[in-house]
Amino acid sequence: MEEILKNLPEKAKDKHKENKKFFAKLRKKTPKHLDAQMKDMHEEEFARTNCLECANCCKTTGPLFTNKDIERISKHFKLKPFQFIETYLRVDEDNDFVLQTVPCAFLGADNYCSIYEVRPKACREYPHTDRKDIHKIGNLTIENTFICPAAFNIVEEMKKRIKI
Ligand code: SF4
Ligand code: SF4
Repeated sequence: MEEILKNLPEKAKDKHKENKKFFAKLRKKTPKHLDAQMKDMHEEEFARTNCLECANCCKTTGPLFTNKDIERISKHFKLKPFQFIETYLRVDEDNDFVLQTVPCAFLGADNYCSIYEVRPKACREYPHTDRKDIHKIGNLTIENTFICPAAFNIVEEMKKRIKI
């Protein structure tokens, strides 16, 4: 996995133009059964991928925290939401709550998430490759090919399977 992660940014950069073109096409000519196709590709990829060997998303980016996330996680720590925010979060340029530092403070040395049961929605859904209407999040998905080896493979598979 170390080698895969080391080479990923370069590989994603090589595919960047092609991926941009593909997602632009996908937006214009969205196949009828895209969501079902994505579900299959996502499940197949994550059956092969062990996130515990990777954790690159937790190490390099971290999620957005919604108000609901903040309430739930504060409660878990028996903190007031403002105390949780003061300790762990900052507001980014888009006015969203994000982690103060990466790797995420809740990531263990064994790559386990110490707040797994109450983790942010964005962590549960990352890399969003099984969400509805993936053609509407082309830029985000392309960005994720630089961070997530599974997202990279899924986009490669999309280009093979989706005939547009
Ligand atoms: S979601 Fe992607 S980046 Fe995150 S741990 Fe799994 S394979 Fe790695
Ligand atoms: S909260 Fe957990 S899953 Fe989310 S970035 Fe931190 S360690 Fe990873």
